[in-house]
Amino acid sequence: DITRWPEGAVGVLSVADSQFSPLSDGLPRYIGVDGFTALCEGLAAQCTRVVRPQWVGAMSPAANTRWNLSKSVGGRPLGDPYDFVLIAHNGKCAARLAGTAKTSDGNSAASKVLQSLQCGFGVRPLEQLQRQRKLILSSIWVLMFVTETPLGPQWEGAHVSGSPTISWASNVSAKRRHRGNAPPAVSEPPGQECWVVHSTPQFARDNKVPQENIPEAKAAEVTAELLSALESAMGLAPGSVKPVYTRVQLWGAANPLTVAGVPAVFDSSTRTGACGDWCEGPPCVEAAARSALAASDAIEALLLPNSARDSDAARRLDALRVRWSAASTASSPLGAFPGMDVPLGQLPSEEPKGRGGGRRGGAVGRGRGRGRSVEG
Ligand SMILES: Cc1cc2nc3c(=O)[nH]c(=O)nc-3n(C[C@H](O)[C@H](O)[C@H](O)COP(=O)(O)OP(=O)(O)OC[C@H]3O[C@@H](n4cnc5c(N)ncnc54)[C@H](O)[C@@H]3O)c2cc1C
Repeated sequence: DITRWPEGAVGVLSVADSQFSPLSDGLPRYIGVDGFTALCEGLAAQCTRVVRPQWVGAMSPAANTRWNLSKSVGGRPLGDPYDFVLIAHNGKCAARLAGTAKTSDGNSAASKVLQSLQCGFGVRPLEQLQRQRKLILSSIWVLMFVTETPLGPQWEGAHVSGSPTISWASNVSAKRRHRGNAPPAVSEPPGQECWVVHSTPQFARDNKVPQENIPEAKAAEVTAELLSALESAMGLAPGSVKPVYTRVQLWGAANPLTVAGVPAVFDSSTRTGACGDWCEGPPCVEAAARSALAASDAIEALLLPNSARDSDAARRLDALRVRWSAASTASSPLGAFPGMDVPLGQLPSEEPKGRGGGRRGGAVGRGRGRGRSVEG
């Protein structure tokens, strides 16, 4: 499902001189064979039962401290009552879901989780992040394009340093050749190259639109700006990258800029919890997995105390309350990865006036996992 990314394939591209410097810290880095999908499929295959796709829009208390789940408030229960509800998500949708958990007198039936899921949007100065008592999320534009002429570099992924517009570029076609003997999930026509470019959070904030309904003119504008920034970063002539296919996507709820300071949110009394990369950070798949493991240890300790791997796990998490702080990697345009030493970029010194998302931003889709076709 995953494979090691060869040493030297990933590094830092400096806009100042268009020089690429491979990361040489000796840390292992992993990529999904054929992208993230294979990793998720591999995990799902190890589960007893996975129901998908399944949107969960409401949760309501059932008998014996259990929970009914449904698509919407008052909707038909999705299966039998559940012993525990763990919301492995953040942002407005997660807060909205927790907000549907009501006791018969109308109070919150999952108040610890509900409070922990309050959120806001928009990259902002560090002092403002430090004052926040909730999750703040940045946004990122992502461009995927295909060319019939290879762009040339030997590297496969680069953190772009010094660009106000782009933060990451990757030759997805090259990356997907690291597959051992596995057959390709998608066969690419010979000679074609597929690339992915990520914007900086500031660029995304300043070009915020409804992510589920991107105006064509904005898509064209963002495509042109990201392509132009890539050409400039790589030292290519303006207009020399001629894509035969492009697609842009705005990740409204991309990376957490504040972290909750707990491995996971957990409440034995209501049998609810929440986990994700925003709990302890730095925002990446590894942090999300660690948080989920902490939550699952606690659930096991609660429901199967005699055979649990870590019988004290529920008590420990029960005792914790979120303590928000600015993520140490908040100025990283792309989230961050444990142990990695790459230029983090800069947080804005002040919030923009007028144009842009800032505090008003917040159109959120259904999570970063949906439709993911890129990894960084
Ligand atoms: C553009 C981009 C590229 C990235 N690249 C990398 C990378 O290369 N490597 C890396 O380590 N990290 C990367 N990250 C960060 C990484 O994606 C996140 O850290 C990670 O996905 C967080 O996992 P999570 O489980 O906390 O949340 P998510 O991945 O957001 O998962 C939440 C899931 O819950 C589902 N969901 C939400 N609400 C509901 C509901 N009501 N009912 C049912 N399902 C629901 C969503 O559809 C989603 O699948 C990237 C992030 C972005 C934005």
